[in-house]
Amino acid sequence: MLRKPLLLAARSAKVRTVVERTPMTRAMVHRFVAGSTMEEALPAIEDLTRDRYVTLDFLGEDTADAAQAAATVTAYRDLLAALGEAGLGDRAEVSVKLSAVGQFLDRDGEKIALENAREIAEAAKAIGTTVTFDMEDHTTVDSTLGILRELREDFPSTGAVLQAYLRRTVADCRDLSGAGSRVRLCKGAYDEPASVAYRDKAEVDKAYVRALRVLMEGDGYPMVASHDPRMVAIAGSLAEANGRSADDYEYQMLYGIRDAEQVRLAAEGKRMRVYMPYGTEWYGYYMRRLAERPANVLFLARSLVTR
Ligand code: FAD
Repeated sequence: MLRKPLLLAARSAKVRTVVERTPMTRAMVHRFVAGSTMEEALPAIEDLTRDRYVTLDFLGEDTADAAQAAATVTAYRDLLAALGEAGLGDRAEVSVKLSAVGQFLDRDGEKIALENAREIAEAAKAIGTTVTFDMEDHTTVDSTLGILRELREDFPSTGAVLQAYLRRTVADCRDLSGAGSRVRLCKGAYDEPASVAYRDKAEVDKAYVRALRVLMEGDGYPMVASHDPRMVAIAGSLAEANGRSADDYEYQMLYGIRDAEQVRLAAEGKRMRVYMPYGTEWYGYYMRRLAERPANVLFLARSLVTR
């Protein structure tokens, strides 16, 4: 019931001002975001990489300004250099939203995003790691997969997120299930129309399993991005049925969510990667996390009423 208004609010400047000024918000954001700066995030990265892998997201999306897109590239380059210095190239990769590096700039957006992504991919390669493109709302999928295709010609290990709730995704999984292809499969976090997406939870779950089956049966590297215990269990069974060893796929969860389960999977010898966002542009990311879980919203609502 709250999902749709929260996802609408995620794009509202007015609501953003109110939420950002709420004192309790800071504490809640802290749960999902590793720090406001790279320096603040680094200790958490070093801590988590003792038993898990990480993918770092410099927060930001929907950039309307080429200078801001360039600043995002610089932030990723600085981060990758710091990860290299800390000897974390084998434990940490980066996640990039193409809309943060210029995809929707009025002039030459896609071209600028491709060049910016290329710079990040080069910096990642220099420290022995790689880049995965996040997936935003359904209107961005063709453009993101087009940029992925081009970048993979020079950086074949560049990965992408596919969202199981989109009706097209099983077909996209087939296209991207070849050798060397890295696909992070998630359920999907945006408010999408029924014409393009399943909207019922049971239907989304079934679609997730169908897509996961295609990836596990393929020759690529599936990244199982879900906190759902059923999806985690099914992924394990499908990996086993397809003769995949613990190095042939991985589990992924978001920073601050189901930490004990992350630790458990890592202790079992599974590859467990944590998606860690950092930076000051946390609003959209944070609102999507609220939309996923009513308990998080009630907590925030109480703090808004009592402030
Ligand atoms: P759900 O059925 O939503 O949740 C299962 C259980 O997980 C819940 O019962 C609860 O215990 C726990 N849980 C889930 N969400 C929360 C929360 N916010 N707070 C507390 N507990 C929670 N979506 C995109 O659209 N594009 C992306 O690029 C993208 N990248 C992602 C990368 C990673 C590594 C992950 C893990 C998710 C990503 N998502 C992305 C978000 C994803 O689409 C889902 O919205 C989110 O993961 C919730 O789905 P779920 O599979 O965990 O299952």
